[in-house]
Amino acid sequence: MNRHPPKPPWLRTRISGSADCPAVMTTVRQHALHTVCAEARCPNQMTCFRRGTATFLLLGPSCTRRCRFCAVDKSPVRPPDPDEPQRTARAIRKMGLDFCVLTMVARDDLPDGGAGHVARTIAAIRRKNPDIGVEVLISDLRGDARALETVLAAGPRVLNHNLETVPRLYPAVRPGADYHRSLELLARAAARRPAPVTKSGLMFGLGERRTELLDTLEDLRRAGCRLLTLGQYLPPSEAHHPVRRYVPPEEFERYGRIALDMGFSAVASAPLVRSSFRAGELYRRAVGPSCPPLGEIFAKDGLSDND
Ligand code: SF4
Repeated sequence: MNRHPPKPPWLRTRISGSADCPAVMTTVRQHALHTVCAEARCPNQMTCFRRGTATFLLLGPSCTRRCRFCAVDKSPVRPPDPDEPQRTARAIRKMGLDFCVLTMVARDDLPDGGAGHVARTIAAIRRKNPDIGVEVLISDLRGDARALETVLAAGPRVLNHNLETVPRLYPAVRPGADYHRSLELLARAAARRPAPVTKSGLMFGLGERRTELLDTLEDLRRAGCRLLTLGQYLPPSEAHHPVRRYVPPEEFERYGRIALDMGFSAVASAPLVRSSFRAGELYRRAVGPSCPPLGEIFAKDGLSDND
């Protein structure tokens, strides 16, 4: 018997093999890299691959955590691959991206949680692609402030860390994580000078209540979070956390407007939205149309927080 209710029409998408998107997939394979698009079975991978972009998964493909909504591999982790930063930088240059997204698995086995490896990857990318914008979607680094500073000092334009769901559901959905630790990480990044633009995301349909969602959005705003993604939870398999509800598109629209009214600079809210979906566009919406050199952004950003 199927554990999850059948998908409504607005969620029916086709995820076909790599034959449709040779360029991105070939580049990823040639550079022996992983994407979270494939590892997490993202419903948008065809759309993003056709746009010539992908989100690179660092330090994987296995994770040290057991989040109940996530399809990423859970087998024993391997030592970090010292050449991964260079290969990622080469692949991104080959793809000709002006904005790229890096993500990571949680590496609770490493002293710095993998922060140094992420920072080396950002540095390698920026050496090969000086004007590129880099977004990093990181784990909570077990709340290690020095590890966070290692990543931030490498100069990502966007620091993304997902809360994923409301605090009441953390034990069932996100064991190993801590709601307040995650908020603190975002607040620490937003308070830094110069500060990256901070971003977070939530999944709907795990059993959360409306009041809990609104409280969580308020918490994110209080932590200085400026970019937000809201999407529908889709269980990767029968073994994953049950989906409690398929939230209709019009409800996502309402939450998107509420979030903008709360002061988020840019919001992507729709059933198939995922953390790094159209990340460059969301960033540009927050900082303005063209993407000026980094220093200029930091200077402007430093001012804007006091407005
Ligand atoms: S920490 Fe991230 S990659 Fe690891 S299981 Fe949780 S969501 Fe998946």
